[in-house]
Amino acid sequence: MFIDDTIAAIATAPGEGGIGIVRISGEKSLQVANEIFRSMTGKKIQEYNTRTLIYGNIVDNDHVIDEVLLAYMKGPNSYTAEDVIEINCHGGFISVKKILELILSKDVRLADAGEFTKRAFLNGRIDLSQAEAIIDVIKAKTDMAHEVAQSHLEGSLSKKIKELRMNVTEVLAHLEVAIDFSEEDVEEITYQTLSERAEELRTQIKKLYDTAESGKILRDGLKTVIVGKPNVGKSSLLNSILGENRAIVTDIPGTTRDVIEEFVNIKGIPLKIVDTAGIRETEDIVERIGVEKSRESFSSADLVIMVLDSSRKLDDEDMEILKNIESKKTIILLNKTDLPQQIEEDKLNQYVDSNSIIRISALNNEGIEELQDKIEGMVYKGSVKNSSSVVITNSRHKDALLKAYESINDAIGAIEQNMPYDFIEVDFKNIWDYLGYINGDTIKEDLLDTIFSNFCIGK
Ligand code: GDP
Ligand code: ZN
Repeated sequence: MFIDDTIAAIATAPGEGGIGIVRISGEKSLQVANEIFRSMTGKKIQEYNTRTLIYGNIVDNDHVIDEVLLAYMKGPNSYTAEDVIEINCHGGFISVKKILELILSKDVRLADAGEFTKRAFLNGRIDLSQAEAIIDVIKAKTDMAHEVAQSHLEGSLSKKIKELRMNVTEVLAHLEVAIDFSEEDVEEITYQTLSERAEELRTQIKKLYDTAESGKILRDGLKTVIVGKPNVGKSSLLNSILGENRAIVTDIPGTTRDVIEEFVNIKGIPLKIVDTAGIRETEDIVERIGVEKSRESFSSADLVIMVLDSSRKLDDEDMEILKNIESKKTIILLNKTDLPQQIEEDKLNQYVDSNSIIRISALNNEGIEELQDKIEGMVYKGSVKNSSSVVITNSRHKDALLKAYESINDAIGAIEQNMPYDFIEVDFKNIWDYLGYINGDTIKEDLLDTIFSNFCIGK
């Protein structure tokens, strides 16, 4: 792939702010920048050291558009590994827009979404998993999600994939020797050794694949619904959880998803409370959407928290909700334990496991810690927890690992049946290819476009 055009875009988020940044990348960056920039000293940009912030004006002919600081980062030591110019102008809508328009009038093209990062990848500065980690760093909702993304950006996943592929390459090398010299007296790799190598590789691929479940939750949040009839304490519970944990409210104006998503940070797990507005405003989500509908929201949720008033006996309304829950992902909270108890707890055991029933008092903030521990346990199931280990957070990586896993199973099957070496070789080549999807080594171009289109413009 040959890149010869120069691109530009606004790199900062839209809106008013102290500064806005317009970025240019490609062969013509320096030339174009010199055409529109007048430094206060009268010197040309290249007369300064690279990566120095130069004070000056952006001018259209002799008309000053804005007072700026300009940085020139000579390739390959730049974000894209090409010549990059970054213009720091005043924030707001107009300065950045005018400067960008001026640049685009000089035979420079508006960058596609993610194109700067795509170039960093195409120019070999980072691999694909690192490029994807950049989106994750930007979109991270909790410290832990940010930490995992940051470690991928630094190359932890790339390194792991390289290791795995190295093992595959070794097996392939042995197989090739065995195939090429099968007539001669070369020491052959035995089926026994092949089988050991393959089993080892399968274990490693499986282990990485198994982190994907927690990884997805770290990245996207645990989609949670809080249900229960009116007055059992749902709003009180929510306030109690929100009170202890930094709530992250993402309000994304001007986008198609003009919604408010609310994330609560539970021990590093982003809990994405579904339809919070519903709970708050209409005071009862089940009542509002009806029992039929609530069944739907139950099945699409990752976690259902059902609240019961333990100071009362179970009634038909409670039973109706209970019938619709799925025990595996439901936690039942017996609220109002500070009041005299009436609820028939034994009746609940047929709906959920007894250790998924937690006694709380939302009013007194009791039992909330236990609820958080329970949620944490459900997500990690004793597996990942350690943020220093590599966690798969991207569904594309997960799919690639699954394919690699299927191929290793095929290989093991072929080895068990003492199939000819060239049969086994095909499976190992597939594993090598599928693992290469993750770091972008063996990926097709149209897929790349899809991946980078998830970025915002200017990144
Ligand atoms: P919702 O309709 O399910 O959202 O219930 P609310 O959170 O609005 O609570 C209904 C009533 O129960 C309010 O008067 C709360 O103060 C009260 N309440 C909530 N939790 C507790 C609790 O743990 N103990 C007691 N005694 N009252 C509670
Ligand atoms: Zn309420």
